[in-house]
Amino acid sequence: MQLPREVIVGNGAIERIAEVSRRLGFIKSALIIAGSRTNDVAGKRVREILEKEGMTVNTFLVEGATVNDVQRVEERIRDLKPQVVYGVGGGTKIDVAKCSSAKKEIPFISVPTTASHDGIASPLSSIKGFEKPYSVMAQAPLAIIADTNVIMKAPWRFAISGYEDVVAKFTAVKDWKLAHAEKNEYYGGYAASLALMSAKHVMQNVQLMTENNEEALRVLLEALISCGVSMSIAGSSRPCSGSEHLFSHALEMIKPNCAMHGERCGVGTIMMAYLHGADWKRIRDALRRLGAPTSARELGVDSDDVLKALDIAASVRPERFTILNKLSLNREAYEHLATVTQVI
Ligand SMILES: [Zn+2]
Repeated sequence: MQLPREVIVGNGAIERIAEVSRRLGFIKSALIIAGSRTNDVAGKRVREILEKEGMTVNTFLVEGATVNDVQRVEERIRDLKPQVVYGVGGGTKIDVAKCSSAKKEIPFISVPTTASHDGIASPLSSIKGFEKPYSVMAQAPLAIIADTNVIMKAPWRFAISGYEDVVAKFTAVKDWKLAHAEKNEYYGGYAASLALMSAKHVMQNVQLMTENNEEALRVLLEALISCGVSMSIAGSSRPCSGSEHLFSHALEMIKPNCAMHGERCGVGTIMMAYLHGADWKRIRDALRRLGAPTSARELGVDSDDVLKALDIAASVRPERFTILNKLSLNREAYEHLATVTQVI
């Protein structure tokens, strides 16, 4: 298990970056990976603080999370030989920093500027251009520095998406249990409990989730980080990614860049909860309350896209056994599922 050694969540957390770096033994050099916007929001400040400590700091801006971006960062790491890589950003920048640092075998510190998914703390990274449309193992962040003051500046929709990525653990854990029962797959009860507890915790705090509420953001960040840790403990994304994520990946393949990761997973969770015989209405009502999408129309896709995604979801990742494999439904049954849950 690779676990983060320091996790700092709160207002002004970024100001403690020098102290954390020192404690972890990084006093000479660092490479910051950021996007142009996230560099303005936080990257420049990180650099300023580390330089004040006498460290040699370089910044490399990336715009996407493709194999090419990862390779370019790997080259920078090879040339500059930094002690540590800081990933400053939302999804893509952290993915690139995580993947490239893992390949070059140097540590990585996560400095999220949004709370939109659990990749900010997980050992997996999602890179476009590899053969798989889902996340692959890279390395866990050695530290996570989540400044709520910075994250608050991101659109509220990002936080809602993160919330949905946590709620998705309800069905992910059910799928994992099912795979254990039916296929004798390894099942880690502790990792599963941790992911499930995070989902329950955010559901219990749904009334907190209002824009500009720092406490809500802290609850959400703690849940996202716990989910990341659960994947580190499990050694895979199993506790956090089941049939609802397969639906999300499938929908993204059909309509690239439609909605956000968490939003697609949220709608997937409603439908997969129905298939599991769980209280899908409770999940849907919580998402509605947040103003999160709960239908095809709200995701910006049409009914046919949803049905196609349901059709191919199980084949996106054939080795991942879920309720979709167990039931092996036909188009008609999927239409019934999407209609009953009011997704279409
Ligand atoms: Zn996810």
